[in-house]
Amino acid sequence: SASNAHETEFLQAVEAFLEAIEVVIDEDDTYQQHAILERMVEPERIITFQVPWVDDNNQIQINKGYRVQFNSANGPYKGGLRFHPTVTQSVLKFLAFEQIFKNSLTNLPIGGGKGGSDFDPKGRSDNEIMRFCHSFMLELTKYVGSDYDVPSGDIGVGQRELSYLYGTYKKLQGPHLGVFTGKPTNLYGSFGRTEATGYGLIYFLNEMLAVTNESLVGKKVIISGSGNVAYYAAKKVQELGGIVISMSDSNATVYNLAGIDLDAIKALKIDHSDRIVNYQIKDEVTKIEEKSVWDIDLEADIALPCATQNEINEDQAKRLIKNGVKFVAEGANMPTHSNGIKVFKEAAIYYAPGKASNAGGVAVSALEMSQNAQRLQWTTEDVDRQLQGIMKQIFVQCQQACEDYKLGFDYAAGADIASFKKVAKQMIQLGIY
Ligand code: NDP
Repeated sequence: SASNAHETEFLQAVEAFLEAIEVVIDEDDTYQQHAILERMVEPERIITFQVPWVDDNNQIQINKGYRVQFNSANGPYKGGLRFHPTVTQSVLKFLAFEQIFKNSLTNLPIGGGKGGSDFDPKGRSDNEIMRFCHSFMLELTKYVGSDYDVPSGDIGVGQRELSYLYGTYKKLQGPHLGVFTGKPTNLYGSFGRTEATGYGLIYFLNEMLAVTNESLVGKKVIISGSGNVAYYAAKKVQELGGIVISMSDSNATVYNLAGIDLDAIKALKIDHSDRIVNYQIKDEVTKIEEKSVWDIDLEADIALPCATQNEINEDQAKRLIKNGVKFVAEGANMPTHSNGIKVFKEAAIYYAPGKASNAGGVAVSALEMSQNAQRLQWTTEDVDRQLQGIMKQIFVQCQQACEDYKLGFDYAAGADIASFKKVAKQMIQLGIY
């Protein structure tokens, strides 16, 4: 409608979804009778608020804060908080919309939500981050709860931020551990949560590889980003015998066809929030270029976009095909633009949509909610075993929908159809109110 004509990211996500589920709508008019689509694309609630804080120079700064509580048919709202200057209501609505279906695919009781702020954490001191989190949470506290809306991290929000946010909540409401997930393990976060999205992505990729009787051994893998998802995806690729040939950040790409040094990436980006351009080159073949990894010609078998939305456009998708890529699995949310996805489909490569392949993070977040409610903490091995089972089940659901609707290996459509049917059924059961 006219009211969201400017929400380009949100409309992009909704349009792709509606296109995929058209076959389901056409075969059964129950969905229309219950106005399911109209209700599904409208958030149950959006909270927007002002976040005033004082920087280290005693200047007052104002940011916008948001929480989109999109759909609770499948349980308490669940989804991360993003702190990045590109955050708008449209971005958070698209992320929360995707989250509804992703969460449903995990088979765990979590609804869809997302939130965050246009605050830019880059270059801010620890005290500034704490003051910002304090102010953000003074407001958000009114709208979240361990059985109601449970945020976690996303771009720009890691364990440090989550600890400050939870600390503020605790001061105001008391020590309800389960109100955030992704907490450090000594504050009863789940073991394995930090690694879960990246590892889960590779477990999903492995399921796709198995379809063609292949494995990661010896495969060349392009990865974008060098944050939480990118780093742990890279680590698992390496562990399973693949070769990570590139990683990047918003300014630069480092690449080497023989493999890049993940310990150096960890020291640089994960431990110190430094820049890829400062990666220490110890040989002659490693290169750094100040452009996106998708603009560099690299021969590879697999591409894992793990940075942000719309990082791969049509031309960049064509470059991947030209350079031999046969598998794309999305670690980030909606990293491939619609016309890029078209290129993948036309080239008939194996393509895993983020809402299926990056669901491992939120799945382990839901396991963190279970652990907090139980007052127990499970072992890393136990959590990883469950994560592997969940990613397999997500793949099976996508595959089953592909079979039911004769979609070949269009897992993107499969994921949309399988999750749509589950959420729609719940909405119909719950009635109109
Ligand atoms: P991080 O903040 O840890 O890392 C983000 C990475 O992407 C950084 O390398 C960052 O580079 C890069 N990046 C961010 N914005 C841009 C941009 N506009 N252009 C180019 N590069 C950019 O975030 P996460 O790893 O947690 O998240 C990455 C993606 O994965 C997001 O799409 C997120 O929604 C998705 N995701 C995350 C989950 C999680 O559990 N964390 C779960 C499921 C999905 P720089 O250092 O320069 O900012």
